[in-house]
Amino acid sequence: MLSRIESARVPMAPTHVLRCCQRGLAWIPVIFIALVVCWSYYAYVVELCLFTIPSILEKVVYLAVFHVSFIMFVWSYWKTIFTRPSTPSKEFCLPKSEKEQYEKEQRPETQQEILKRVATSLPLYTRTGAGAIRYCDRCQVIKPDRCHHCSACDMCVLKMDHHCPWVNNCVGFSNYKFFILFLTYSLVYCLFIAASVLQYFIKFWTSDLPESHAKFHVLFLFFVAAMFCISILSLFTYHLWLVGKNRSTIEAFRAPVFRNGPDKNGFSLGFSKNIAQVFGDQKLYWLLPVFTSQGDGFSFPTRLVTVDPEQPTDCLQPGGLDKG
Ligand SMILES: [Zn+2]
Ligand SMILES: [Zn+2]
Repeated sequence: MLSRIESARVPMAPTHVLRCCQRGLAWIPVIFIALVVCWSYYAYVVELCLFTIPSILEKVVYLAVFHVSFIMFVWSYWKTIFTRPSTPSKEFCLPKSEKEQYEKEQRPETQQEILKRVATSLPLYTRTGAGAIRYCDRCQVIKPDRCHHCSACDMCVLKMDHHCPWVNNCVGFSNYKFFILFLTYSLVYCLFIAASVLQYFIKFWTSDLPESHAKFHVLFLFFVAAMFCISILSLFTYHLWLVGKNRSTIEAFRAPVFRNGPDKNGFSLGFSKNIAQVFGDQKLYWLLPVFTSQGDGFSFPTRLVTVDPEQPTDCLQPGGLDKG
């Protein structure tokens, strides 16, 4: 008889094909954004700067600022898309004997007993709403604090924030900083385009400039940049607020449950420490899409930490637990 994992892994032809199709289709929003960005590059550099702007100095300044924001935007977008989400380490899997016991066992209470026994050696502070150890049946791991199972990626993702279709990736511990920078630089990119195109937009609109094929590109450039600006702005301010509170989007909707109940501020360490959790200590790296987030993604300092006699103290250290 096949065990539960084996039976789940046997590729049944239609579902396998369906999954491949789903995976391919998931790239459509990313391709759409990439095409819009390529067109915006052509429209700005060729049609606006080379064909429309008469002053050399203006051309040079616009092209320089444009390219800096373009490179930073593409770099952070790339890192958000292609940084693999981090998953729970081997320590969070049940040891072989416990796993066999767990699978044989039908009663949830006894299964919980097994999980509790394994969890004593793990740095866990959060529980399910019912007070049980959080376990993913699909990945067969004990979920670390702030970790959630993503059904789109079909895996458990550390400090999962949300699954973002625009990057076709899970936003979580490994790429949250890149995601915030992606929002920041897309906003800078769109704002700069909208602001620098505005005067030529007005000139074309009022027919001060001769009819040309540049007119179409310049008019559209302004509309598209302004539209993206408005839509990104709300998401950007929401995520800045979340960073300041040290909350993930999931936690903002459903407060994490600690042993003494749900607490939406359970992971908040104060404004500046919350920012350092995502961006790191060194301000020099804050604006670069290189990984500088603090901790290991498995355990997080909580403001409620009173050292738990059930937890071995060496397990409290890895995430930089703040005992103060
Ligand atoms: Zn899972
Ligand atoms: Zn996902």
